[in-house]
Amino acid sequence: MSQTLLITGGAGFIGSHTCLVLLEAGYRLVVLDNFANSSVEALRRVAELAGLGPDDPRLQVVAGDVRSAEDLDRAFRQAPTPIEAVVHFAGLKAVGESVAEPLIYWDVNVVGSQRLLAAMRAHGCRTVVFSSSATLYGLPEQVPIPETAPVQPINPYGHTKAAVEQLLRDVATSEPGWRVACLRYFNPVGAHPSGRIGEDPNGIPNNLFPFLTQVAVGRRNQLQVFGDDWPTPDGTGVRDYIHVMDLAEGHQAALETLLGAEPQQLTLNLGSGTGHSVLDVIEAFAQACGRPIPYSVVARRPGDAARTVADPSLATTRLGWRTRRSLTEICRDGWAWQSANPSGYTR
Ligand code: NAD
Ligand code: UDP
Repeated sequence: MSQTLLITGGAGFIGSHTCLVLLEAGYRLVVLDNFANSSVEALRRVAELAGLGPDDPRLQVVAGDVRSAEDLDRAFRQAPTPIEAVVHFAGLKAVGESVAEPLIYWDVNVVGSQRLLAAMRAHGCRTVVFSSSATLYGLPEQVPIPETAPVQPINPYGHTKAAVEQLLRDVATSEPGWRVACLRYFNPVGAHPSGRIGEDPNGIPNNLFPFLTQVAVGRRNQLQVFGDDWPTPDGTGVRDYIHVMDLAEGHQAALETLLGAEPQQLTLNLGSGTGHSVLDVIEAFAQACGRPIPYSVVARRPGDAARTVADPSLATTRLGWRTRRSLTEICRDGWAWQSANPSGYTR
């Protein structure tokens, strides 16, 4: 029988795309999500895309909180076969909000991870893939950024990611048998090419890509470009945008690597290794949607780096994975999602 995985935060943007890839790869999934930033509709569509009927036991949903020992226990007990591994997406991710509400961020992201690890031990599961972030490199001194670059986050969100990575290393070192992968994502964007699932942020988006797609679909008037005086070729910020389906496949590769190997700890960048400026993204998206994107240049955003680009070579070596999709495909698929779902899942 196929292996069962627990996916925390599986209804969210990255989680939903990863659930689809894992179902298509033959895993059975239990998703634990409190729907704080997602909709059950996302999972309904994941099931539909994977060809599962309603109530198919291959995708079970537990509405619960990752901080609750009871909810975690329920998720482990509900699994059709013992849970072999956990993919831990559940968490809060808005940098500005983390500055205003650090206690909530430490509670959900760090206490939530600690409770999850305790539940895993109690149920004899010691394989975990964790959603870390390139944000923990802060303002990088070296670009492309290797995993050996200093961890120096500059906001509470980044501090919580660094703390959970450390917690995982401490736990894995404390007893034999743990297989841990911390995946440091660069900038996840785009959507499944069907346009059925995608990113659906609550309120006004903080990030470039969802803001841009909402301007394109007419939900917002214009994009603000945060500075054109950066030390980059066109003066706008450069990032490593990674198609969410490439990212989802990176999780599958990490799971397969861990489940087939001796206990180990992996810390890997997941990015493309290629940087694109804000103006590159605006231009590529305008091409994809066939209409111009109105924008104006405003002051730099505090805390921004000029350029962050991954050195993804270690992930290629360790996982046999690399990104396959271009910025053009990112924009095509992002537009397929946003144009078909102008108000997202309308939760
Ligand atoms: P998301 O908000 O779409 O998904 C997170 C999911 O976790 C949501 O479904 C939410 O409802 C759930 N959740 C939140 N608090 C919970 C709790 N207490 N208990 C149970 N479920 C809870 O975000 P995403 O973009 O899919 O990000 C997934 C993970 O990847 C997060 O840990 C995030 O920090 C990390 N990450 C995201 C990015 C990015 O740019 N999207 C970059 C780097 C790292
Ligand atoms: N950005 C922008 N306008 C926006 C949002 C973002 O010009 O409304 C820029 C931002 O300054 C950065 C890039 O777009 O150079 C990516 O920002 P995002 O917040 O998406 O990712 P992060 O900065 O967290 O890597």
